[in-house]
Amino acid sequence: MRPLTAHVDLDALRHNYRLARDLAPQSQALAVLKADAYGHGALACAKALEELAPAFAVACLEEAVVLREGGIRTPIVLLEGIFTPDELVLVDELGLWMAVHSDWQVQALLQFTPRRPIPVWLKVDSGMHRLGFRPEEAASVWRQLSAAPTHATNLHLMSHFATADRLDDAYFQRQMTCLDALAVELKAPLCLANSPATLAWPMAHGAWNRPGVMLYGSDPLEAPNAASQRLAPVMSLRSEIIAVRELAQGEPVGYGGRWRASRPSRIAVVACGYGDGYDRHAVDGTPVLVEGRRCALSGKVSMDMLTVDITQVPEATIGSEVVLWGCAQSGETLGIDEVAGYCDTISYTLLTGVLPRVPRRYH
Ligand code: PLP
Repeated sequence: MRPLTAHVDLDALRHNYRLARDLAPQSQALAVLKADAYGHGALACAKALEELAPAFAVACLEEAVVLREGGIRTPIVLLEGIFTPDELVLVDELGLWMAVHSDWQVQALLQFTPRRPIPVWLKVDSGMHRLGFRPEEAASVWRQLSAAPTHATNLHLMSHFATADRLDDAYFQRQMTCLDALAVELKAPLCLANSPATLAWPMAHGAWNRPGVMLYGSDPLEAPNAASQRLAPVMSLRSEIIAVRELAQGEPVGYGGRWRASRPSRIAVVACGYGDGYDRHAVDGTPVLVEGRRCALSGKVSMDMLTVDITQVPEATIGSEVVLWGCAQSGETLGIDEVAGYCDTISYTLLTGVLPRVPRRYH
């Protein structure tokens, strides 16, 4: 077997969920499981959380079907609602809840006769300017839906924050002011908080919160706070050294010969590449752990392998474990947020980017 595995620690997932829940005792926390639970495996994560979480959220119907077919009976919210009116048949059959963000969705819902009224979260664009009704349109849509109790029930207002990861942010405050005013006008329960707002903005905690990435142990805040430092990593990506090269000073490694040995060097070849989802933008010096020591990525990431300078770790050899992110090795740790920084990206893309050929092992 190729020695590359994404280990998923389901106890850590439950720990992070409890943290999200306990930070907002007046709110219910649904668990966001979209994008295959941020690359961790939606069904396995749903099973691990089903005793704890009162609801799950996914992006679309296809993701909800995977959970229902896997036996998950917990309420599931479709965060982007439906993409075509005919999806309402399955929404009704599977007992899903749905966000509505566009007039055509509201009209489709009002023309459809469900077996049971469908729980609806009305999405307001309070500043993200992606999906949702403008605040000045929201009241009339709310009233339309309230007047159709055989179609829509359990109405909530939902909105998404653009800048909740910044701790002193005026734009966040403007979004909040707009939402608070609407909630008072409509006497509407709110569902607002993503992970950064769950961790850092108690004023955004509503009837429901929607934590995503924090459940998987990544800290979304620009500056960590006491709560975010309690998050536990869920996925660790681990491989092994499959070959070792001795290089003379000046010899290059990998495509383009970008990296050259500045002194006689030992280079480890590791079974993980961009064909597994490891980011090709990782720069020279991106850390990995070998034998409990930080070693530097040296040379461009290839499709199936990457190369690491192990000159300072003489005991490293073929078969030595390599931690690419996510768990401690002999006391040394390497968090995914740090690796994402070296790739000029965020943990979300690294996690959702781990490709199906990497086996997931659940603990
Ligand atoms: N709610 C919505 C509508 C989202 O699109 C997302 C993620 O993109 C989340 C909640 C969860 O956000 P986070 O992963 O930052 O907690």
